[in-house]
Amino acid sequence: MLADYAVRVEQSRGRRHPEPPHSYRNDFERDRDRVVHARAFRRLEAKTQVFTRRYSDHFRNRLTHTIEVAQISRTIARQLGLNRDLVEALALVHDLGHPPFGHSGEKALDAAMRLHGMSFDHNLHALRIVEDFELRYAAFRGLNLTFEVREGIIKHSHDYDANDHPELAEYLLDQRPPLEAQLIDLTDEIAYSIADLDDGYEAHLLAVEQIAGSVDLFARHYRDAKGRYPQAAEKLVFNEALKSIFDGLVGDLIANTGQRVQAAGVHSLEEVRRHRERLAAFSPAVEAERRRLKEFLYENLYYSPALAAEKEDAERITGELFGHWMEEPDDLPRNYKEKAGKEPLPRVICDYIAGMTDPFIYQQYEKYCGG
Ligand code: MG
Repeated sequence: MLADYAVRVEQSRGRRHPEPPHSYRNDFERDRDRVVHARAFRRLEAKTQVFTRRYSDHFRNRLTHTIEVAQISRTIARQLGLNRDLVEALALVHDLGHPPFGHSGEKALDAAMRLHGMSFDHNLHALRIVEDFELRYAAFRGLNLTFEVREGIIKHSHDYDANDHPELAEYLLDQRPPLEAQLIDLTDEIAYSIADLDDGYEAHLLAVEQIAGSVDLFARHYRDAKGRYPQAAEKLVFNEALKSIFDGLVGDLIANTGQRVQAAGVHSLEEVRRHRERLAAFSPAVEAERRRLKEFLYENLYYSPALAAEKEDAERITGELFGHWMEEPDDLPRNYKEKAGKEPLPRVICDYIAGMTDPFIYQQYEKYCGG
């Protein structure tokens, strides 16, 4: 079933703390299950993806987005003969390190940390969650995930420079990650581009003519769908268009990645790792269309005036709470106060805030900053 370039679970570099094998689940299945049962995973349900709950209860949140990424990733992994257990674990864990309030929260936390000569990065935060913050086992801190899942957490979306991150040296920073990890960033893009068009339209922040006027990919698929269903309601034609865009992106990613692997003559995991660039990719034509769609979403949705007030709120709340705890560290919960004795206070506050859900950070803001 597995292609020669896939990760085989027997090849795993293993866990930090050796554990006896499970009688019927392999190590990547166990990692996937550990992620699903983590507290940080459950909190994704109350974290903003793009829209806060103010808009609608049926819009995506970070958890449903994560499930969509896992679904797409499994489909693609099967077609490419990749290790589906590993892919699923990586998809489910990929957004674990996101703070409340989506991108605004991340920006505000990073800005607050930079005042103290540090920074915030959601991939590195996810690694801290699975390595340290989750307390489920008597024998060790964290989830004790296999090397390949930890490596995928930090390498799925970009490459870290070994000089800037000596603490990540064990993760083979001079090599490409396995295809299983390379895939995640691209399926993430597919998932949120389609989902944000969908939710943006439902929220009446994007209109069909507006999208079609700027995004050829959408215009083409909408026209086709309208041709097939001339009498259907606009929303249903819109759905049909999204469905075929979705299918086109996934199909292109499968075909193009397969071709690139073949053209590169790559026949082992080691060759994937040693190849000069990542092999998972859309074809150039589809990549250009995907970029255009992404630009459109930035210009018309993520940076739209309609969402601006909420984003400013998110940044203000995050920044003010951070500042409050810097001045009054005694207001931190006991376990965080204890940590502040061993780690820099800004890092401890950042870790605390990053773990919060949207409702919890609002509640803390009311409590300490008076709302
Ligand atoms: Mg994501």
